Amino acid sequence: MPSATLPQASSALLQVVAEAYRELRPRAPLPELDVKFRRFTSLNTTIRLRDGKLKLRLSDLLEFAPESVHRAIAHILLAKLYRKSISAVYADRYRRYTQSEVVLKQAERIRQDRGRKRISTPLGHLWDLEEVFESVNRRFFHGLLGRPTLTWSAHVAKRMLGHYDAAHNTIVVSRVFDRPGTPRYAIEYLLYHEMLHLKHPVRVRAGRRCVHSREFQAEERLFPELDVARAYLKRL
Ligand SMILES: [Zn+2]
Repeated sequence: MPSATLPQASSALLQVVAEAYRELRPRAPLPELDVKFRRFTSLNTTIRLRDGKLKLRLSDLLEFAPESVHRAIAHILLAKLYRKSISAVYADRYRRYTQSEVVLKQAERIRQDRGRKRISTPLGHLWDLEEVFESVNRRFFHGLLGRPTLTWSAHVAKRMLGHYDAAHNTIVVSRVFDRPGTPRYAIEYLLYHEMLHLKHPVRVRAGRRCVHSREFQAEERLFPELDVARAYLKRL
């Protein structure tokens, strides 16, 4: 994959890296930062200093990790690069996160599935899912959401209209939408909902899976045609 198409780090993450740098090297000027996510099949991260530029490449498995984890990774990578001692607090935070069951399972499944061929296409008869995704991405996420694999379902599924498969980083949309008369707001809402799943990963709290968290639902209400879109989906 050419580096230009790698998902860029959010400005919040760049801020975290800059802060970690100042913490370790308070008197040194901050180099230019180039932080991107890569489709790693493991949790590998790399750091390099070249031509005065700090290049960080993080596994996309870490893209939606909590900020405290990003802070820990930034500290660990910078400490390694500049041969400083790694703070036990950060080392522990990172280790606990990467050893959490959810992350391990996700990494394992991605390892198994990447490389295996799947028939998928974002191009339908009427809609190009990539075009709809990018327009929703610009409208609601400042274009910051990394695009997953987008594909139409193999069959005209009516029970499962859409879903986000975290293990394959894929959004599947039912073919039922790919026909004349489907209003754009309906397919946009469907993608918006699945994109919120991408942004708000499933959390496990007290042994229970929290799929549509409070933050998820609050953000979903920002979709202007929410009610009319939901009514349309119900009729399907
Ligand atoms: Zn959902």
